[in-house]
This record gives sequence, structure tokens and C-alpha cells, in this order.
Amino acid sequence: METPLVFNIQKYSIHDGDGIRTSIFFKGCPLKCAWCHNPESQHYQVELMFYDSRCTGCGSCVSHCKKGAISIEGGKAVTNRALCNACGDCTDWCFQSAREVAGKTYTVDQLVKEAEKDRMFYENSGGGITLSGGEVMVQDMDYIEAVCKKLYDKGYSVDIDTCGYAPYENFKRILPYVDTFLYDIKAMQDEVHQKFIGTSNQLILENLIKLNEDGAKINIRIPVITGVNATEEFMIDVISFLKEHNISVKQVNLLPYHNTGMHKYKKLDRGYDEEALLGVPSAEQMEQFKALFVEHGYQNTKIGG
Ligand code: SF4
Ligand code: SF4
Repeated sequence: METPLVFNIQKYSIHDGDGIRTSIFFKGCPLKCAWCHNPESQHYQVELMFYDSRCTGCGSCVSHCKKGAISIEGGKAVTNRALCNACGDCTDWCFQSAREVAGKTYTVDQLVKEAEKDRMFYENSGGGITLSGGEVMVQDMDYIEAVCKKLYDKGYSVDIDTCGYAPYENFKRILPYVDTFLYDIKAMQDEVHQKFIGTSNQLILENLIKLNEDGAKINIRIPVITGVNATEEFMIDVISFLKEHNISVKQVNLLPYHNTGMHKYKKLDRGYDEEALLGVPSAEQMEQFKALFVEHGYQNTKIGG
């Protein structure tokens, strides 16, 4: 497999596990969540992002594209995506920072070195490094295992933020080096999962059971979305599943859906399914869901990451 692409390294992250963390986002995901607010995370290839509002139409990028993919139309640069190979040459010539490439490779040592830059924060806050995505568990596992092991050997806490949709042997490989799995549950009924996420949830639930049996520490993360799963019935289904399989949960995180990332689809000249009619749950609903988990014994339930 090819070296995984990183599309973002977020410093000082306080929503992706314990303490202050550096979150590393890998590019490419096997799921197609209707509410995904990180479209640059979905594909496994390097992509050009264009910030329309920053473009002055100066034309500097046009002559530096060897593919002839850029033209100026209506005072703005327009990229022919069929010609563009995301080489990034044009980004060096845009002084408005209107063009950016999403997806960069790091060697294992480079990535570890980057993560280590904030070690003072980890030490003082009980934090560490979180590998996220996209989906980290479907990347080249030789690479991911090497990153996890190296960070673990240096004494850092490594969390894995995962959708769970990956072969279990991938989880097994990194289990010894991982502090906590931040494990998403989005829909319990298979047909709902298929409708809004594009796959069955069977593998995801099976992997969760196996991880628990293998002694992993698990935070359950639920993106709460009106029109998909913002119901008491769904929350009860999750609780019943966790109890039925004796899943030991370190923390439950209820993550209210927000639609602030939808403008990013435009930056990739990609559409967003507005028909999906997804909504933001109210603060009152979120408190009710939290109370439900607490009532059933999950005292460590938080709204947010
Ligand atoms: S990324 Fe490369 S191919 Fe695409 S528009 Fe820029 S220079 Fe042209
Ligand atoms: S160089 Fe930047 S600002 Fe100038 S036309 Fe190209 S994208 Fe727009």
C-alpha cells in the first residue's frame, strides 16, 4: 500500500481524547456519511482546494499550470478538475492563498517528530496524540503500526479515532500501543446505516465487541443528528447493545451535529446532498440524551468531545 496521506495536523486539540492532544488526520474513508463536514477527508488521493472568496482573479496561477487546467471566468480562477492532477504547482504562485493542496506524505520519523513538538502540553495535561481521519484503520497498517509503536515506546498516549469499519486484524496489530479507541456509533438499525452511511453496520458492531473482549479502553462517540439518530429509541438501542455485550465504556461522547463545514464542498467543486434534510439537535434534547445514559449507569457521559 502507498504511504498514507495526512490532510491536517491539529495542535492543541481538546476534543479528541484526554488532555491536550495533537490530532493527525489521515485522508480517505470507506464510509459515506451524509453529514460529513470534512469532504477533503473522503478520498484517498491528493486534492486541490480552492478558496473562492480569496481569489482576486489576478491570473498568476494560470500560466504556471502545465496542464492548462486554469482559466479566469467572471473575475475568478476556475479549475478544470478533469485536467488537474493536484500537482500543487499553482499554489506557489497564488499570493492570496486561494489554492491549497490537501494531502501530504510524512515518513514515520517525520510524523513522530511533528507530534513530539507539543510534548510539554501532553505531559502537563495528561494528553497525547490522536490518529484520526478520514479513517486511520484502513490506511497502510505497516505505517500506522510503526507510528503507534514509536510514539508508545517514547511514552506518549496514542488514541485512535475510528469509525470501526476495517478488518479486525488491523485493530489487533496496534492494540498493544493504543491508549483509548474513540469509537463511533452512528446508527443501530442496519437499514438506517445503509441509507445515511452507505454500508452495513455489522462489521462495526462486531469489531466493537472484539475490541472490548481484547481489553481495549473504549470511548463511545455518537454524532447526534436530527433526521438520523436524534431519538430516545436510538439511544436506548445503543445502551441495550453495550449492556448486552458487557462493553466496558470509559466515556460516552454525544457530539451534536453542526453544519458549518458544508462550504468546504464548494472548495473541491463537489456537491453536497442537501436533500438529506439533516438537522441540528437542540441543547435540551442533548441534555435529555445525556441524562438517559447517566440514568443507565454511564456516569461519564459528556456532550461534546
Ligand atoms: S494543482 Fe497542478 S494541475 Fe491542478 S490546477 Fe494547480 S498547477 Fe494545474
Ligand atoms: S493566483 Fe490565486 S488569486 Fe490569482 S487568479 Fe489564481 S487563484 Fe485567484
